[in-house]
Amino acid sequence: MNVYDSRQIENMMRQAGYQRAGSADKADLIIVNTCAIRDKAEQKLYSLLGRLAPIKQRNPDVVLAVGGCVAQQEGKALLSRVPYLDLVFGTHTLNRIPELVARVISTKSRIVDVGIHVIEDPLPTENARGNGKEVSRFVTIMRGCDNFCTYCVVPYVRGRETSRAPDRIIAEIEALVGEGIREVTLLGQNVNSYGNREGLITFPELLLKVNEISGLSRIRFTTSHPKDLSDALIESFVSLEKLCPHIHLPVQSGSDAVLKRMKRRYTRDMFSERVAGLREKCGDIALTSDIIVGFPGETESDFQLTLDLIQEIQFDGLFAFKYSDRPNARAAGYMAKVSEKEKARRLQVLLDCQQAITLKKNRALEGTEQVVLVEGVSRMSDTRDPQWTGRSLNNKIVNFTIPEKIAPSEEDWVGRQVKVVIYKGLLHSLQGKMLA
Ligand code: SF4
Repeated sequence: MNVYDSRQIENMMRQAGYQRAGSADKADLIIVNTCAIRDKAEQKLYSLLGRLAPIKQRNPDVVLAVGGCVAQQEGKALLSRVPYLDLVFGTHTLNRIPELVARVISTKSRIVDVGIHVIEDPLPTENARGNGKEVSRFVTIMRGCDNFCTYCVVPYVRGRETSRAPDRIIAEIEALVGEGIREVTLLGQNVNSYGNREGLITFPELLLKVNEISGLSRIRFTTSHPKDLSDALIESFVSLEKLCPHIHLPVQSGSDAVLKRMKRRYTRDMFSERVAGLREKCGDIALTSDIIVGFPGETESDFQLTLDLIQEIQFDGLFAFKYSDRPNARAAGYMAKVSEKEKARRLQVLLDCQQAITLKKNRALEGTEQVVLVEGVSRMSDTRDPQWTGRSLNNKIVNFTIPEKIAPSEEDWVGRQVKVVIYKGLLHSLQGKMLA
């Protein structure tokens, strides 16, 4: 979502006459878009601002701005903590950035705007195609969240759930397709509740409309809250040919006691049943998830239940994190904190367990044919024998060679879907050869 927001900021600043500087050293304006989801992300902001300080010392006219979730959370306190900061803007003031920057310059004052305004839709929809080789883009369909999971800062920094109108979303995707984009990932904190508050169409109905966009090859989405995963959405994977067979379904823990304290509003059995429903309808769907280790009060037996769930479900991949207290989130006040050392141990055990599963699943794909959307030449490529890269339908990175006799230039392949036979499954990617 921050990648998407950063694009919107860039578009707005371009319209205001700015262009990308090659580096922070050469910039007249530096905007840092921030994430507050974990303490580590927040600490990275402060170390980055420390590295930017010499630039401001050399040239006080450079405008330094911080936006996004940490800005929303800290507001004025950020200006006090970082005396050389010029502008703090929150998650609801995105479309005022050109105006705020102009005010900082004309008044030579320091400004904070973290008010909760409705973000007027449409935000600018002009989406230049980056380096001209991108084939995939994010499109935000909703903002904010109403779920208030007890560890999470999102409802406080991104506000309550609001959905964008379907015609704006469709128009934005059509514009992207016109620029050469072939795959979109629809973004929301909980896409299953798309349109509920506003009485718009449902998420499966939106998917149906996106599926009809001519020239678009693939649709993905994230994130889907397990408690709201509907039969209609499962059915979409069967009926919509552009919807890729991969779902990210964050389970967070395998212990009912922990899930309850997290206020996730599903049990381990409910999660397993939903997964069974998905796999029954769409057998080879890839499944990824998020896990938090060391939530306050998580005992060794709670942790063992999570490991047990991982073995039971056999996810294709996991994003696992150590719990950290977030301001305002209810769990920050929970007692029985797990020590950093123990969190680190649990995380490592969990990652080792998942790596074995991922490797086994990727090896099982050896000898299969995968449809790959070509993204370009791999960074690791050898110029004499170029390795191409792209993603399979179920979101695995595939590096592959193209037989010499059918290898035209890069422009001819980027954005096309090709068939690749896999000869090696690795931990983070698959290797293969394109079929003639
Ligand atoms: S569903 Fe829970 S974890 Fe996800 S954004 Fe909302 S409050 Fe945070």
